[in-house]
Amino acid sequence: MTDSQKGVTEEFECPVCMEYMFPPIHQCTMGHTFCVTCFDKIRRCPTCRCPKGVSRAYALERIHARVTFPCKYKLEGCNEKILGVNLNQHHEVCEFANNPCPFANAMHCRWYGPKSEIIHHCRKVHPTNTQSGNHIILKCPLFDLLGLQSAFYFAIIQAYGEQFQFCWSLSPTGIMKWSMYFMGKASDIKRYKYQISIGKPNGDFEPIIMSANCEQMVEEHDIFEPKYCLLSNYENMRKRCNKNGDLHYEIQIIDKAFENLNKT
Ligand SMILES: [Zn+2]
Ligand SMILES: [Zn+2]
Ligand SMILES: [Zn+2]
Ligand SMILES: [Zn+2]
Repeated sequence: MTDSQKGVTEEFECPVCMEYMFPPIHQCTMGHTFCVTCFDKIRRCPTCRCPKGVSRAYALERIHARVTFPCKYKLEGCNEKILGVNLNQHHEVCEFANNPCPFANAMHCRWYGPKSEIIHHCRKVHPTNTQSGNHIILKCPLFDLLGLQSAFYFAIIQAYGEQFQFCWSLSPTGIMKWSMYFMGKASDIKRYKYQISIGKPNGDFEPIIMSANCEQMVEEHDIFEPKYCLLSNYENMRKRCNKNGDLHYEIQIIDKAFENLNKT
């Protein structure tokens, strides 16, 4: 970075938190600019005491795209300098990004680390909730005794070199929601779908087979309230338990690019 470029980058420091501003960049009625987080918190401009403006600093936003910024994971070790226009994309894939453990709330786990280490952490610390492969057979023991009450299960699945979060929840009304979230890059999400097959083919009832596209990962506390999910009914599931009352189900994660290749 040359000195003159550095000067331009400094213009993007938010006067309140000193972090770099990125679009949307808001301003006071006099034109002092702030990052979106600070703008939401202030009532008046801390520099000139003027009220908050209604229009954004569009010129500055356009310049932002063409200025080079350090990665926000600089302190974690990333030395990349990235054009504003590519910044979000880089932060999404930055190997130094700090991610919370996917079970942070559910298991009271305090672990934070780069994406590449999530799966190692989960295997070591949460082995019963960590699975590998694109075809997994799982069992919910004594499912027929659950009855109409709340129950849930979730797991991190490593498949195709990517990570997925699978979960189901049963509500006291007997509705069971199944969902699969994709934890990789947003631009890759269309590649993957999943299929769930409930019950064993040799039982009195044919397995129930359902499939859907994977959803983009959400915050941990929202995983059991999916926007889209597969639905099943407790009584229907119960009929598919084996004689011990266990419910077997299979999960397949399908790479659609590969699936189409096989067909032709
Ligand atoms: Zn700020
Ligand atoms: Zn001001
Ligand atoms: Zn980075
Ligand atoms: Zn953990």
